[in-house]
Amino acid sequence: MGLRRSIYKTPAQLRSMVEPGLITAASLDAVRALIAPGVTTGELDAAAFDVIRSRGAESNFQLVRGYRHTTCISVNDQVVHGIPGSRVLEPGDIVSIDSGAQYEGWNGDSAITIVVPGGDAAVVDARQRLSDVTEGSLWAGIAALASARRVGEVGDAVQAYIEAQGEYGILRDYVGHGIGRKMHEAPTVFNYRTSDLGAEVKPGLCLAIEPMVTAGSDATFVEDDDWTVTTVDGSDGAHWEHSVAVHDDGIWVLTAADGGAASLAPFGVTPVPIP
Ligand code: MG
Ligand code: MG
Repeated sequence: MGLRRSIYKTPAQLRSMVEPGLITAASLDAVRALIAPGVTTGELDAAAFDVIRSRGAESNFQLVRGYRHTTCISVNDQVVHGIPGSRVLEPGDIVSIDSGAQYEGWNGDSAITIVVPGGDAAVVDARQRLSDVTEGSLWAGIAALASARRVGEVGDAVQAYIEAQGEYGILRDYVGHGIGRKMHEAPTVFNYRTSDLGAEVKPGLCLAIEPMVTAGSDATFVEDDDWTVTTVDGSDGAHWEHSVAVHDDGIWVLTAADGGAASLAPFGVTPVPIP
């Protein structure tokens, strides 16, 4: 009989989470730099893979059973889990890219959403706003974690932020998670208010917080490829994610080069490097 692994990591284990977080961030920086009309999602995936491999890490998505790509790339009415391939990006497409690296047995997980330059201005504006609302809700959730007593306060903050921005759908069937030796660990991190506030927030906790938001209804279905999650009403989707560590002196966003400093400043939160 073995002991269940604690969801709270030791200070040394937290330090091991830094490098995979930075490699994950670098893989998304490479994708971001490539996004333009005419580029295929497969080319974006290859760019992420090259960065992860060149830094001596592995793609943790490729370690998921049945999945052989480095990223998930979801376009327009696809919200998450889209499979990269021959699809060519068009002006004005809204593209969510989810990537992750495993380095020396520890994992990073992060996602960004980008609107491809060009295209109809009204469409682009609405899609950029959807991305901004989703990203803002992620940072609101991370800011809440800085002073939260229970994990459920994150979802409360994410939902409250989105509701204050207008009529958007929040996916209910897909959630954030703990992260460490495995990409997906306990506890579950909901993107909405729950009656059970869940685990205690204490030093050693590492969470992947990842709001998935639509411009319409939150109803989704899985496409025939058995992966891609698409909106039923055809509305656009966005997905932002960061891996975040709680330590003795504060919080640190592992998948942001500045630990989240710039994006947390409006919330009055200053991240502290992991000692
Ligand atoms: Mg992810
Ligand atoms: Mg994740």
